[in-house]
Amino acid sequence: MSVSSFHPPQRTLMGPGPSDVNPRILEAMSRPTIGHLDPEFIRMMDEMKALLQYAFQTKNALTMSVSAPGSAGMECCFVNLVEPGDKVIVCQNGVFGGRMKENVVRSGGIVIPVDDEWGQAVDPAKLEDALKTNPDAKLVAFVHAETSTGALSDAKTLVELAHKYGCLTIVDTVTSLGGVPVLVDEWGIDAIYSGSQKCLSCTPGLSPVSFNAAAQEKISKRKTPVQSWFLDLNLVMGYWGEGAKRAYHHTAPINALYGLHEALVILQEEGLNPAWERHQRNHLALRAGIEAMGLGFVVQEADRLPQLNTVTIPEGVDDAAVRARLLQDYNLEIGAGLGTLARKVWRIGLMGHASNKTNVLLFLGALDSILTGMGANINSGVAVQAANDFYA
Ligand SMILES: *Cc1c(COP(=O)(O)O)cnc(C)c1O
Repeated sequence: MSVSSFHPPQRTLMGPGPSDVNPRILEAMSRPTIGHLDPEFIRMMDEMKALLQYAFQTKNALTMSVSAPGSAGMECCFVNLVEPGDKVIVCQNGVFGGRMKENVVRSGGIVIPVDDEWGQAVDPAKLEDALKTNPDAKLVAFVHAETSTGALSDAKTLVELAHKYGCLTIVDTVTSLGGVPVLVDEWGIDAIYSGSQKCLSCTPGLSPVSFNAAAQEKISKRKTPVQSWFLDLNLVMGYWGEGAKRAYHHTAPINALYGLHEALVILQEEGLNPAWERHQRNHLALRAGIEAMGLGFVVQEADRLPQLNTVTIPEGVDDAAVRARLLQDYNLEIGAGLGTLARKVWRIGLMGHASNKTNVLLFLGALDSILTGMGANINSGVAVQAANDFYA
């Protein structure tokens, strides 16, 4: 058998991630591989730290990229901060909060669950109740932007509450970073992780993280070693840390890091505020089209993520058939519903480089045509115009 080179099709990625990768990032990744202790590479790492500090809006010295996808950033936060026996309040309103619970258990902690309905933001009142009834809780963890439902929670208020009751916080911003405000220092977030392939529009496989002084102190005072050798921050810092040491820990994914560096340069060039505004504007244009069609959103307006739109599938329409048509005829990928929302919703991502007018109009026109062809009960032929009217 002879296998030749793999050439993927050119898709438009409007799902829950990965999002469309800016060609500048792919070009950056094709540059020459150098050693992970090469002085030029270390200079790039220092720049990367400053760029990540900008993206996270933090001065935290312990800000870097974990050499693995968002799930590893999540695990890095939990294995370092949770000690055996620690009570951890986990607010869950979708799939990813459930994974946080798994991480607590596997780190030897005790989960205090605070559950909200899928599609709703985390309820601060419920968190406060849990904090009152568990005065010995050590940590509060929640997902800022629940990619499984499209709900945005009020991170500032939740962190404030946690601190009021003496807890540190772990916040998942995999989908929020770059798409909506994430203000680490202003909100006082203690430990945070994100991902490269959502609103940063880089290739998947890297997870930016940041830890403040309080989180670092808890880690340095641990009585038991971190159960994961690879993710133990005390060891990782020997490579990413300040000063000249830069000891070998693992071989950094050199070219992948060139890509993240470029993604963050692009974000800096655009500016955080304009990036957040762009995501909001394209969401509103999509909404205009979706509503003109007669379709609705799962999440109430005030808690809606502009970068992840969860739209209710009209009665009698076959979820998978529509997504297959979008992929085959339009090279366009959207996401299916997860968990309790499976087959009930589509998840339409407008993340990073993919959050643009062309994609909004392409998707609306495609969905309109496919649903009309299937005889679905929608207002046909009006969605694209409604979005265009919004842009005008
Ligand atoms: C995508 C995602 C993750 C996991 O990131 P991976 O890169 O797929 O490991 C975690 N949390 C949220 C909210 C996500 O959207």
